[in-house]
Amino acid sequence: MPAFDFEEERIKREIAKLGAKRVLLQMPEGLKPQATELAKIVEDSGALPLISVDPCYGACDVAINEAQSLGVGLIVHFGHVRMLKHEQVPTIYVEVRATAAVDAAIEKSLLLLAEYTKVGLAMSVQHLQTLDRAKEILTLAGKTVIIGDAGQMAYAGQVSGCNYSNAKSIAEEVDAFLFVGGGLFHALGIALSTAKPTVVADPYDNRAYSINEDAQKILRQRFASIQEAKEAKTFGVLIGLKPGQKHLDQALQVKALAEKSGKTAYLLVGREITPEALLEFPTVDAYVNTACPRISLDAPGKFQRPVLMVNEFRVVCGEVSWESLLKEGLFEN
Ligand code: SF4
Repeated sequence: MPAFDFEEERIKREIAKLGAKRVLLQMPEGLKPQATELAKIVEDSGALPLISVDPCYGACDVAINEAQSLGVGLIVHFGHVRMLKHEQVPTIYVEVRATAAVDAAIEKSLLLLAEYTKVGLAMSVQHLQTLDRAKEILTLAGKTVIIGDAGQMAYAGQVSGCNYSNAKSIAEEVDAFLFVGGGLFHALGIALSTAKPTVVADPYDNRAYSINEDAQKILRQRFASIQEAKEAKTFGVLIGLKPGQKHLDQALQVKALAEKSGKTAYLLVGREITPEALLEFPTVDAYVNTACPRISLDAPGKFQRPVLMVNEFRVVCGEVSWESLLKEGLFEN
């Protein structure tokens, strides 16, 4: 196995404890190459492994219905931290911690953080075991390190694709954020939630870089989408069907707000909300997305019509200004 901890012994113990005869393995794309090896572990434990080939972007999407339809006794969900309050099928979350050292990447980030004294530290779950070490390196370099814990996440300092509450809780106290993890995804979320300069220390590539220009580019795109949506008369309110993306009450509030603002609004439900799926509704001028907020953020150029986050729709309806939304942060959490 590569440099990740798949907690094989824990998986075996859970299978034995539950006496599970069928086990559904669910993981994000980057981990699927390990699926067959993980299936062998399940098989050697006396259970039948079933590997989900469906895309899996977060812990919002535990394959509960699929497991029930297959008579599965245990779901092993890899790569994410638990998000649902209750699963109808026994489920364990294997967080897949990375074993890579973070030292070199953080050392490189110091140059980019040179002008900042107070640094907020945030990580994806894969690196949280290095939180103390990262703090130590920054402190030795003369930084005051602040780690947020807003009580919504499993761990202090943790950020997920749609929850930046830990970063937001300390945004006013810090000059900049250092995110430890791979890729732009989470770091952009921090920048867009806190309006603070954000630097990435990527331990996979042992490099560090600023994402401030990327964040500014996205903010320009978001502003343009809001302006376009102000002209819209008919809105589609998107409701996700994945277990952690189903926010019907919020969608009803959005519909009521749209109608109060003189707009027409329809509720649209779906598991996978894609540009192709929305092409089928030419009478809808713009969408408000109550499912996964990253649908709006990560593919703005691919949708033909604006797909706003709920907070952005409040700007369209005049409930908040664009300037105050920037301070508040685009994400609700
Ligand atoms: S709602 Fe979106 S960002 Fe949040 S966990 Fe699910 S896939 Fe990730």
